[in-house]
Amino acid sequence: MKIAVLKEGASGESRVAATPETVKKFVALGAQMAVEAAAGAGASYADGDYAAAGADVGDRAATLAGAGIVLGVQGPDPATLAGAAPGAWIVAGLNPFGDRPRIDAYAAAGYEALAMEFMPRITRAQSMDILSSQSNLAGYKAVLDAAGVYGRAFPMMMTAAGTVSAAKVFVMGVGVAGLQAIATARRLGAQVSATDVRSATKEQILSLGAKPIFVENVAGIEGEGSGGYATEMSEEYKKAQAELVSAHIAKQDIVITTALIPGRPAPRLISDAQLATMRPGSVIVDLAVESGGNVEGAVAGEVVTRHGVRIVGHRNVAGRLPADASALFARNLYNFLSTFWDKDAGKPVLDDEIGDAVRLTKDGAVVNPRLLS
Ligand code: NAD
Repeated sequence: MKIAVLKEGASGESRVAATPETVKKFVALGAQMAVEAAAGAGASYADGDYAAAGADVGDRAATLAGAGIVLGVQGPDPATLAGAAPGAWIVAGLNPFGDRPRIDAYAAAGYEALAMEFMPRITRAQSMDILSSQSNLAGYKAVLDAAGVYGRAFPMMMTAAGTVSAAKVFVMGVGVAGLQAIATARRLGAQVSATDVRSATKEQILSLGAKPIFVENVAGIEGEGSGGYATEMSEEYKKAQAELVSAHIAKQDIVITTALIPGRPAPRLISDAQLATMRPGSVIVDLAVESGGNVEGAVAGEVVTRHGVRIVGHRNVAGRLPADASALFARNLYNFLSTFWDKDAGKPVLDDEIGDAVRLTKDGAVVNPRLLS
């Protein structure tokens, strides 16, 4: 089985879907590895290191020629895949809800598109989960991005010239990114509080030494749906949450928002009026900005100032740590394909539970139930 690793085509994407480490492991499995020249350049992985790991490094046409599996961080442009084997697997983060035309094009071209975002949240698939690995880094980087534009220090400092007080950081949405944001802000010495719609997160917040801020006594408060993901909340809950947030954020210096609901626009957590109550010089980082944004006025790809508050809306935040993000992403892909590697067939053979979850297209059609309903 030939596996092709492409140079990413999306603007601003510096990550790569395989590293010399995973190339070496794939070769040990018996795969033939081909890496497009400069594929790892943005993440500081050199062509020579891929070659030393056992890959053929060449132009795109040579890389794709006869490949049965094409690896990507983001989905490659279907028009640039000429030469791949008929029915080749495209294994990448495919943004299935946000980029439907591309998925349809993979189907029309006969490719089998496997979306790594649809990996089920089950114990045995944890090591294959790109959302977790990338969210973890994004949560960390969000705090550093906040610290970078905040004109004050995070920790309390007692100096001969007087005391600097600790920054107050509020994390909204305590999934993988939010937990890492809490831990990072704590390490930097901030006073941290956090909220989520899933009450199970209360204990996790406390265990990290932060203060839980939760809506109490409202019907339908348990916001956990299938797979541990959040569900859309009732109007009553949203009103209570808005009141709680209003009272709390006026006293915060930094807010990190991470709230997502799979397949839906991100919930709006901070309105312009709420923003206006924050102290000038405060900072908000909206990690959900590419899914519609948790914060009114956040702009994807920009840092904007409203009412004296800096709103940071970087895209692809994990990709701003390209070396580590690539290393973890590449291991997720390797863990996925190697788990199902069939020695006799010389290629991966997926089981139904994971195969049916991640497969978007097959035999010329879109087949994933989440895209058909
Ligand atoms: P996510 O990225 O989908 O959402 C981020 C957080 O925002 C979630 O905690 C969610 O509850 C919260 N949120 C949604 N709407 C909100 C609102 N209106 N107000 C406040 N918060 C809101 O979440 P995630 O990081 O992907 O994690 C989702 C779940 O999956 C968690 O329970 C996590 O522990 C679990 N998980 C399991 C595995 C596994 O078993 N393989 C791997 C990773 C995550």
